[in-house]
Amino acid sequence: MSVFEAMTANGSHEQVVFCDDKDSGLRAIIAIHDTTLGPALGGTRMWPYKSEAEALRDVLRLSRGMTYKAASAGLNLGGGKAVIIGDPRTDKSEALFRVFGRFVESLNGRYITAEDVGTTVHDMEYIFMETKYVTGVAPAHGGSGDPSPVTAFGVFQGMKAAMKTAFQSEAFSGRRVAVQGLGNVGRHLVDHLVKAGAKVIVTDIDEEKCEKAHRELGCEVVAPEAIYDVPCDVFSPNALGAIINDNTLPRLRCKVVCGGSNNQLADSERHGIALRERGILYAPDFVVNAGGLINVYVEMEGYVRERALRMAEGIYNTTERVINISREQGITTAEAADRFAEERIEKIGNVKRGFFGGI
Ligand code: NAD
Repeated sequence: MSVFEAMTANGSHEQVVFCDDKDSGLRAIIAIHDTTLGPALGGTRMWPYKSEAEALRDVLRLSRGMTYKAASAGLNLGGGKAVIIGDPRTDKSEALFRVFGRFVESLNGRYITAEDVGTTVHDMEYIFMETKYVTGVAPAHGGSGDPSPVTAFGVFQGMKAAMKTAFQSEAFSGRRVAVQGLGNVGRHLVDHLVKAGAKVIVTDIDEEKCEKAHRELGCEVVAPEAIYDVPCDVFSPNALGAIINDNTLPRLRCKVVCGGSNNQLADSERHGIALRERGILYAPDFVVNAGGLINVYVEMEGYVRERALRMAEGIYNTTERVINISREQGITTAEAADRFAEERIEKIGNVKRGFFGGI
């Protein structure tokens, strides 16, 4: 498949930039999916991709996802993403990130970067030396720091809205929530759940994290493979993508799926339908986990934590609206979330192109 064919196959991208610097060893791809609503924002992932084709596929898929996430969160942002081909444990250097920063700068604000898998706040600081088009820098530089508490808060809001539909009550008292993954997002989410009175069952491949949740918060702990079989009201994935698949889906014993992980459905269409047929309400991932993106968006305007939290509170209403669209139109919540985002892009795109567009 040619690059142009790949750009079309993955949802009509505006621009793809290949970055190559022999001295630093940088090989990166920046994908700008859609800038109708604003500059394309999305993190830089560093990963030892086996081939350039694999890296291209990933960056195209991820950048498109960012367009939908930003649109559904009501932000004036488009979708973009970057990948650096390399091993984050061995291939990082100041020069590599600074050269990457220069490539970002060359796009003049059409693309704004941030942290992602394999990159850290520290790496962002090197990029920041070469361009201002970077978010998620350390609070010492006026940045917003770790976005995961806001992400977790947003997931909690989305979960409340989904529970309201599934149980006609958003009260957590007496509800059982099974949480997969106690990382940055998962552990903050568990705090909210315990405080709200839920009975929380947790798992993580890191036993220490499980032990801590048991000791400090009284959570019940199960083995990683056992989490899918736990009888519960809500299953909350906060570890991996594609965890709702042909193997796990028939095992779920919940009424709601709602968590922070990206790309939870292995096959968005097929597994979205299968969840609905089993009477399980799926709160779409990019709708409920937009808190991190909201956090860096607020950073661009001058970071105020209260503002980020207030905006993330809006995830409750967005989730409710998406659920309503799915009911009104007889489609899955995953599809309803896509339509909700696409409609906003179209409508606001028209506003921008209209009478005032040329001014
Ligand atoms: P993290 O790496 O801090 O945490 C992931 C946790 O999952 C780790 O504790 C890890 O040990 C555990 N884990 C890995 N494999 C597991 C398995 N098989 N079973 C159980 N536990 C397992 O990551 P994070 O920042 O908490 O993000 C979690 C998910 O949320 C990711 O999919 C991420 O892309 C998504 N997300 C995060 C943010 C954010 O603000 N951090 C924002 C949006 C989406």
